[in-house]
Amino acid sequence: MAQTLGKQELALYGGPRLKQTPFGTGKRYGQRELEELREALEQNTLFYAHGRKTRQFEEAFARLYGIEHCVATSSGSAALHVAICALGIGVGDEVITSPITDVGSLIGILLQNAIPIFADVDPHTYNITAETIEPRITEKTRAIMPVHLAGNPCDMDPILKLAEANNLWVIEDCAQAYLTRYKGRLVGTLGHVGCFSLNDFKHISAGDAGLLITHDPEIARQARLFSDKYYDREKGGRNPERLGMNYRISELQSAVGLAQLERLPWICQRRTQIGLALTAGIRGLPGIYPHEVTEGGECSFWFYLFRVEEDEAGVDASTFADALKAEGIPANYGYIKKPIYLWPFLRERRIYPNFNWPEDFKQYGKPLRFTEGLCPVAEEVLRTCIQIPLSEFYTDQDVSDIVAAIRKVSRAFAPG
Ligand SMILES: *Cc1c(COP(=O)(O)O)cnc(C)c1O
Repeated sequence: MAQTLGKQELALYGGPRLKQTPFGTGKRYGQRELEELREALEQNTLFYAHGRKTRQFEEAFARLYGIEHCVATSSGSAALHVAICALGIGVGDEVITSPITDVGSLIGILLQNAIPIFADVDPHTYNITAETIEPRITEKTRAIMPVHLAGNPCDMDPILKLAEANNLWVIEDCAQAYLTRYKGRLVGTLGHVGCFSLNDFKHISAGDAGLLITHDPEIARQARLFSDKYYDREKGGRNPERLGMNYRISELQSAVGLAQLERLPWICQRRTQIGLALTAGIRGLPGIYPHEVTEGGECSFWFYLFRVEEDEAGVDASTFADALKAEGIPANYGYIKKPIYLWPFLRERRIYPNFNWPEDFKQYGKPLRFTEGLCPVAEEVLRTCIQIPLSEFYTDQDVSDIVAAIRKVSRAFAPG
């Protein structure tokens, strides 16, 4: 048993601060990005359909993923919205997704007047599962959107089986999950469509951009049309048959994205290493539940999320996070604070002005309740979790300092 530590030893209560060195940092953009940008500018066009960079970016990503089709868009949210359109999901159709995610998962669903339905999550991987999805399936369900949170794969085999049995589309939200493998296969290639984000906070960035991958040429064709005003650029364009969006990427973003892909394997490997080292370092502490990687999976840890159960740990997660911050370790209590169905825009139905959403959709017409208790495990996870932001530039010293700080705080509060 670890010996006890007085609470006065904690930096939070005036004790010595644990972290003595600054965290490792590094440059995310360099010579390669500059070279690609120069080439893009020298083309004398920045339009994706006239330059070469977007095609190169899409081809490089498709090659990396061993998949036939890739369509670049202006953001991850745009890629997901385009996926919804390309699959023909529309008014009153239900899409089952996770309550612990970015609002980008929902934008396309809501803008197509489809209905997001929330399945609960696993308490240790924080992902939706076939068991939590199945009871949410109704005659209106058209798709499942698994979110591979923080780079941890959903347990996909049972989800794919469930989708197949119920004739549902599977749209993988891989915005946080680059090069994440599930039983050896890359997530994003397992469902009908996989969507990625290159916003400035993701593993790789083009300032903003998104990528959509699919095995299906018709889905790819539709995705390309919907992301560019439904103009057919091959046939020369105007006079579209449907309403599309302008979710085009520019040659500048594609140039940066192309160079960023070269860094991606290293970034993911390093984050995987850091995440696993944190788990190894904190496993077994009383009331501390590490970020568990899904069985058969590999996780590229976009961040690290662990839970603190107060009755076993002797401290609540919020105080624990404050104590870590005082030790010099960045730590955020609660990640997204509340499941997304309790965010005001959904809870208070501020989807469309002057419209009673979704009851006024004739094609839907069901009451929908987004209230506390809908996904009790997700609510408990967010009440008890601490997010540690990660960087691939963290040094081994940084990683062992994070572990040491968590152990120190745990020791000071653990019931004797
Ligand atoms: C970042 C993110 C998105 C949206 O991506 P943007 O490029 O910011 O639009 C969607 N889903 C998840 C899970 C994300 O983390």
